[in-house]
Amino acid sequence: MTLLTVGACGAPLVGSGDAGPASPASSTPAAVPSPSAAPEPAPVLSPAKPVPRAVDDPVYELPSTDKLVALTLDDGPDPTHTPAVLALLRKYGIRATFFLVGENAADQPGLVREIAAEGHHLANHTWTHPDLRRLSEAQVRDELARTSDVLQAAAGKPPTWFRAPGGDWSPVALRTSSDLGMRPMGWSVDPRDWARPGTSLITDRVLKAVRPGSIVLNHDGGGDRSQTIAALRAYLPVLIDDGYGFTAPR
Ligand SMILES: [Zn+2]
Repeated sequence: MTLLTVGACGAPLVGSGDAGPASPASSTPAAVPSPSAAPEPAPVLSPAKPVPRAVDDPVYELPSTDKLVALTLDDGPDPTHTPAVLALLRKYGIRATFFLVGENAADQPGLVREIAAEGHHLANHTWTHPDLRRLSEAQVRDELARTSDVLQAAAGKPPTWFRAPGGDWSPVALRTSSDLGMRPMGWSVDPRDWARPGTSLITDRVLKAVRPGSIVLNHDGGGDRSQTIAALRAYLPVLIDDGYGFTAPR
């Protein structure tokens, strides 16, 4: 028996709705030539002016009414804490999404390959974990592109998800990540484990806040994450006993 759940949908989880790439041709019947009609003006689309690419807003929750949670782990990989997290996920048959910092990934290529080999998703969390709102467009692109290159080298495929450090999104970051083929993922449950408030507080915050479709933010890098690991050890079996499954959205 496994609780591993494949991502539920290939379509965008949350679209911006009105910004979708709807084609005029799909909503209008084919024009029937009429000998009596006046000549129609040429179509408005000009080949010299590409249609702007729609940029998604961040996904904060899964569109699920089932007891399904996306567990996300940020700021790794870390040579001490990431293997401990991987062991727990293996024990419970959970697939998660790791938002990796590029310079950490470059330092730990074997660990990055291990994360991917165990079926987890590698996702882009920038190269140096800066506040992207303070960077130029070229600097933002460099932060994201370098990281995607390292992750692609490890996993054999480019990352499809991006998360801004601190959740501090900017229009440039959203547009650049879209240009690089990624969608932005935020979170809906933040136990603030990075601040090391104590294992029981991290555990309680997660268990009180989780609901169907939650995206849970935890950290396996960026400092001493032993409280986070102890909290995972405590709350994962409680959620499983409560009927929750875990997914790494595609
Ligand atoms: Zn982070």
